[in-house]
Amino acid sequence: MKAIEVFPATREVKLTDRAEPTLTEPTQVKLRMLDVGVCGTDKEICSFEYGTPPDGSASLILGHESLGEVIEVGAAVDDLKVGDLVVAMVRRPCSHPDCLPCRTGHQDFCVTGDYTESGIKGRHGFMAELVVDEARYLNVVPPELRESAVLVEPLTIAAKALAQTVKIMRRLPWFDPDQPRESNLASYRALVLGTGAVGLLGAMVLRNIGFETYVYARTPAPNPKSQVVEAIGATYVSAQDTSQQFAHLVGSVDFVYEAVGSSQLAFRAMKMLGPNSIFVFTGVPALNASSDVDTDAIMRDAVLKNQVILGTVNAGQAEYHAAIRALASISRRWPAAVQALISGRYPPDAYRDLLLQSASGIKNVLSLDTMHLRTSQPTVAAAL
Ligand code: BGC
Repeated sequence: MKAIEVFPATREVKLTDRAEPTLTEPTQVKLRMLDVGVCGTDKEICSFEYGTPPDGSASLILGHESLGEVIEVGAAVDDLKVGDLVVAMVRRPCSHPDCLPCRTGHQDFCVTGDYTESGIKGRHGFMAELVVDEARYLNVVPPELRESAVLVEPLTIAAKALAQTVKIMRRLPWFDPDQPRESNLASYRALVLGTGAVGLLGAMVLRNIGFETYVYARTPAPNPKSQVVEAIGATYVSAQDTSQQFAHLVGSVDFVYEAVGSSQLAFRAMKMLGPNSIFVFTGVPALNASSDVDTDAIMRDAVLKNQVILGTVNAGQAEYHAAIRALASISRRWPAAVQALISGRYPPDAYRDLLLQSASGIKNVLSLDTMHLRTSQPTVAAAL
């Protein structure tokens, strides 16, 4: 079968031919991979800045934003059947007996650092025609989400950020746990940093629960990303913008959702934070930027305004389920905008352009289901 692999020692990225995997445990299932999204993390791995092959392997099969179809189930699997569409969790537990998060199914909170991540750290990913995986890490998606379900994994980042935020909001004396989440968060103002898939999906989730949402990007409008932002009723602000929109935001944002992976920009945006606000980091920056950030001002505000600064990595099972529900909901509400996030589907041999060049678009997808590629619409960039 075909796979896309990175070889760190020889600094190569190759389309390889590997033996087909077979079930070795009754708790496993075999998947035919359909779609695998390409993200910044994959590109960093391909430039050898990040990523680790499994123990004893010279190479790492890439890919962690996945959608597969179950084609075989082990004898002990009773909650999945052939034909189910599934999205696999990325983070897998460490083996330390005393890591409470990992021993209780919350490996996204692993305390030892010895967790693995499919396609990223110590575990093969999903850019392969066939994959064998443990059933308990697979989340079923309804067939009507076939075209967009590759967005579930990046959406889990927003789902977890929001779940954590709601928990933090409960610290406020006027938070009413008997009221629905939406009414407690009504009239909240959010700033999303970044218009990659993680940023735009985050903006959709925030708009969907009624936040007044601003999305910050480097490029001025109009462009395909600003069109998505407008289509969901959020406001696009760019680095080139008149500072009017910014002046309006400074010191008055309740929630910042960082999705750029640039610490310089993120820390500068902290001056937007208002009282009792929350700043969530989701990006993983390269470790090379020195900073001229005004740390005194940040610390002063954090104290005087009861601010919370939070990092979050994706994601537990609950957030995969929440992301699948959220994708169904935003797809009903803004079908064209959700469709426009997937800028193109490409065959496996396009991997060089997608992983090693700076391919444009919001979310490029490698389609391992070449039949589907031939029969589906080639791109949806003009969907809006
Ligand atoms: C992935 C996460 C992963 C993180 C850090 C992100 O691109 O979506 O699943 O935990 O990178 O490796």
